[in-house]
Amino acid sequence: MTEGTLLLVEDDPQLCQVLATQLEQKGWKVHTESYGSAALEAFARWSPDLVLLDIGLEDMDGFQVCRALRRMSNVPIILVTAADTTQSKITALELGGDDYLTKPFYLGELLARIKAVLRRTRGGGMSAPGKCLTLGELTISLAQREVRRKGTLLKLTKTEFDILQELAMHLDEVLTYDFLLRAIWGSGHEDVRALHVHISNLRRKLEPDVLAPHFLTTVPGVGYRMRSFSN
Ligand code: CA
Repeated sequence: MTEGTLLLVEDDPQLCQVLATQLEQKGWKVHTESYGSAALEAFARWSPDLVLLDIGLEDMDGFQVCRALRRMSNVPIILVTAADTTQSKITALELGGDDYLTKPFYLGELLARIKAVLRRTRGGGMSAPGKCLTLGELTISLAQREVRRKGTLLKLTKTEFDILQELAMHLDEVLTYDFLLRAIWGSGHEDVRALHVHISNLRRKLEPDVLAPHFLTTVPGVGYRMRSFSN
C-alpha cells in the first residue's frame, strides 16, 4: 500500500539515508535532496504530498525553503530543527510550517506527526460545522456549542468555548499564543495572561487530572495544542 509521495530535504547523508529507508518501509515513495535550491526544483517537478524539511542546510536555510514552498503550494510541511529553541519553533510555524520535530527524534514520533498533519490537511478535524468530535470521554459539538464529558454537559463560558473550538478545529496542531489571541479577541489584544487563565479554567472543566493535562497540552513558550490521541 502506498502512503503517498514525500520530499525529504536533509543534508546529513547518513540521516537522510536512514530516514528514507524507514519511510519507504512504511509505504512512502521518497525523493531526497540535500540542497534547498535542488529541493525547490524537485518540488516544482514532482509536487509531493508532503515535505520533511531540515532547517540547517548548506546553501540556504530551511526557513527560506519553507517560505519559497509556501509561495508555490499548500503542501503539508514538517520542519526538522536541530536546536530545541522556542524561537525556531515559532519561526517554523509562522513561516507556514505545519509542524516541527526536534532532532533526535524517533521514527514513531515522525510517523505520528505525519499522520496528524495529513489528517488535518486532507479534511479531517472539525472544519464542517455541525460535526461532532469525540476525544476519549469528551464530545464536542460545534453546532450546538456543547461539550460533554462522559455524557454530562459541561458549563463553559463563551470565551472558553471559542478557545476550545479554535483548538479543536486545528487538532494536533500547535496554535501560538498570538494566533489564539487574534482568533478569539481580534488584533491588538496582547494580554497573554488572559489566555492562560481561560485555558486553566477550561482544564479544570475538561481534564480528568488538571496537573497532567491530557487534552489541552502546553508547548512552553509557544502555545497550546489539543491532542487527538491519548498517549
Ligand atoms: Ca542539516
